Amino acid sequence: MHDDLRCDWTKDEIRAIYRTPLLDLIHQAATVHRRHHDPAEVQVCKLISVKTGACPEDCKYCSQSVRYKTEVEPTPLMDVADVLETAKRAKAAGVTRFCLGAAWRQVKDNSQFDSVLEMVREVTDLGVEVCCTLGMLTPDQAGKLEDAGLYAYNHNVDTSNEYYDKVITTRTYQDRLQTLANVRKTNVTICSGGIIGLGETEEDRISMLQTLGTLDPHPESVPINVLSKVPGTPLANVEDVSVFDTVRMIATTRIVMPKSVVRLSAGRAKMSPSDQAMCFMAGANSIFSSEAKIMLTKAVPSQSYDEDKALLQQLDLKIRQPFKDQSREHPPQYSTQHSPQNSTAPAAT
Ligand code: SAM
Ligand code: SF4
Repeated sequence: MHDDLRCDWTKDEIRAIYRTPLLDLIHQAATVHRRHHDPAEVQVCKLISVKTGACPEDCKYCSQSVRYKTEVEPTPLMDVADVLETAKRAKAAGVTRFCLGAAWRQVKDNSQFDSVLEMVREVTDLGVEVCCTLGMLTPDQAGKLEDAGLYAYNHNVDTSNEYYDKVITTRTYQDRLQTLANVRKTNVTICSGGIIGLGETEEDRISMLQTLGTLDPHPESVPINVLSKVPGTPLANVEDVSVFDTVRMIATTRIVMPKSVVRLSAGRAKMSPSDQAMCFMAGANSIFSSEAKIMLTKAVPSQSYDEDKALLQQLDLKIRQPFKDQSREHPPQYSTQHSPQNSTAPAAT
């Protein structure tokens, strides 16, 4: 373990990093990035919503909650064949991680879950990393996804423990951490990050990074989303986040979790090529791309495959190959605080 890889971060330490003058911070993050990653590589991911809308949860940012009237129409679970076709086109466009998202509160043991397991098996056979984001999971369901070949499970903590109930009231922070702990008992890697621009304070961002950075081991993958403001949701009119705040958040994430893949996720569609280049300098090494410029639903856009190909070419970046994360061959070591035996989530910090 390199001595910059730690799971005992205090808020004071993370605050000091976060408040470093921006250009120094970018320099420090770029230095850490180069110790653990090839800075010329960016992973291109594709997210597909396999079941859209009518979600019972009340996440105040989300275009898919049944509680808000948004432009997103609910659609039933996609056919396995359609998902596979989309995955094949994505792979041909250079995508090396394919994520399946469902607007569910939690996975239920029913035929829909069986279909998702089939999607995981078939897309995995294409030779891309498959990730799922399906809501809360039991240990048994996590095991079934592992058996189907799942590479990663996404479950974002979204914000700080302190701010969580201002954004979501239908589940707790502890529920979120428990699902992460359930996934950790398997060999499936963890993707967990959050959103900035929800009206949170700087202290909330620091607290969220402390939660993620004290998971032992760290999530292998950390998405940093900038809120895509969705008309009809309670957060439709919050103040914009400056690109420099986004870069600051990415750089701090890179330093706190040096080995993790930091994913520049929602919000990128509004960024100029030079904004994005700054994010890559600061340690982001993954993006979401799509043929129809839709990251999740039409309310959360992305760039197109062609635009991203051109951007990577202009910046002399190449696409990161799949399965570079070694944790599948070398399962993570658990500390006593977060062991597979006791299987409980760490207490929210
Ligand atoms: N229902 C599942 C869940 O909540 O875990 C998966 C759905 S959603 C694809 C997963 C993540 O997308 C959310 O946790 C949130 O971080 C992100 N997200 C959703 N809507 C967003 C928006 N409007 N702006 C930014 N991020 C958003
Ligand atoms: Fe449902 Fe997930 Fe949207 Fe929350 S983020 S409303 S759980 S789809």
